[in-house]
Amino acid sequence: MRLCIVIAFVLGNIASSYAQSGRTPLTTPSGTPILSSTGTPVFAPSSSASTVPYTNIAQLDSGFMQKTYGDAAKRIIAHALKDSVAYARLQYMCDTFGSRLSGSQNLERAIDWLLQTMKTDGHENVRGEDVKVPAWVRGEESCAMVSPRPYTMSMLGLGGSIATPAGGITAEVLVVRDFAELTRRAAEAKGKIVLYNVPFTRYGATVRYRSEGAIRAAEVGAVASLVRAVASYSMRTPHTGGMRYQDSIPKIPHAAISTEDADIVARMTERGEKVKVRLTMSAQTLPDATSRNVIAELKGREKPEEIVVMGGHIDSWDVGTGALDDAGGCYATWKALQILKELGLRPRRTIRLALWTNEENGLRGGIDYAERHKNEKHILAFESDGGIFKPQGFGFTGIPELFKVYTAAATLLHPIQSAEVKVGGGGADISPLIAQSIPQMNIEIEGSKYFWFHHTQADTPDKIDPLDLNKCAAAIAVMMYVAADLP
Ligand SMILES: [Zn+2]
Repeated sequence: MRLCIVIAFVLGNIASSYAQSGRTPLTTPSGTPILSSTGTPVFAPSSSASTVPYTNIAQLDSGFMQKTYGDAAKRIIAHALKDSVAYARLQYMCDTFGSRLSGSQNLERAIDWLLQTMKTDGHENVRGEDVKVPAWVRGEESCAMVSPRPYTMSMLGLGGSIATPAGGITAEVLVVRDFAELTRRAAEAKGKIVLYNVPFTRYGATVRYRSEGAIRAAEVGAVASLVRAVASYSMRTPHTGGMRYQDSIPKIPHAAISTEDADIVARMTERGEKVKVRLTMSAQTLPDATSRNVIAELKGREKPEEIVVMGGHIDSWDVGTGALDDAGGCYATWKALQILKELGLRPRRTIRLALWTNEENGLRGGIDYAERHKNEKHILAFESDGGIFKPQGFGFTGIPELFKVYTAAATLLHPIQSAEVKVGGGGADISPLIAQSIPQMNIEIEGSKYFWFHHTQADTPDKIDPLDLNKCAAAIAVMMYVAADLP
């Protein structure tokens, strides 16, 4: 989840000043702060800015939903559960093209195949919209303990990091549990490798050490920094992800090690042993490359100029095959569009599928989409980017009147236990649309295992249950159809 390289550190300060204004900054489902394209916190669209796209909103209660959309919902759910074409296609894409990091040929080949397949399926206005994206490449890397004993660690460099000198950096490790301890022990950090041994709590909280750890360590004279993998469970699986630098502070290499390896180093230092580590990285940031947002539509029958946009991000990190993050979100929304087309359910307004590029390390796809389509009338933006597990309902950010309408619509999803709507929703790629006061929605899933596999080599199709994918697609298809069709 790119948003994690958000400028959380800056956010902390800005958010507190906004908190005094009584408005709360928005967060993604995993609690990570949502920032606008300029890095400032984003708040729920104020009721004055958002308009209600529906007439007689008071009548749009659960009774109305059952009477008007009950049959359509039953047909959508039945159709969604009848086959696993979407899952087979997800497997095919992950197996055939592999990981899809921005700037990679893998990603562009996958996008070519998606565009061709959607055209063959007969979707409308299928196109790729060019987006300039950063091109970071990992290269060879390793991390090994050299004393008190030789021991090869399980590591992954963090996206955006610089390389070490050719022979690597060998230094003593200073283990800290948080930024406060680093500040307290700043004098000990000079010339050392700082290890942030921070156990996973909430993604939004723990990820700060990954995103800004190199800045804080360099500030106190460290030569490199390591983070305990941002993982809620581990089988010695390191988790990669984005990190960032600050212009005024020297850049140092930054990598993640598995939680088990962080524990070994921490226990040794707690016993008073000096631990020395050699970190070797050969990462590079190449000139920007061109990627594309993948777009396909189901044109509205009455108000085609009004748009419900739904999607996920098609890029991934360069490890594993980005199945949960975020091929699952892409295929659940793609299948939702497919279901409506196959059932001949054409709503009043246009439903647009957008598979955004570069979510993980730049958000350029989401930012480009918001800019390129700013003169169009979007009534709702939806993203699935929290993995695909058993659906439970939706998260929604927008005015209370719309919250009530979508809560009533969700009652159609009791048959698949997905009728819950909670306050607070959104996603990284749709967050740039908040500045245009477009209501935000995401799907809520039983995601307790998401951060077992997130940004690891283990993010592969077998981590998705095909039935969960179909149920997520059913829930999304019903909600998007109703949102796009209400009078
Ligand atoms: Zn993601």
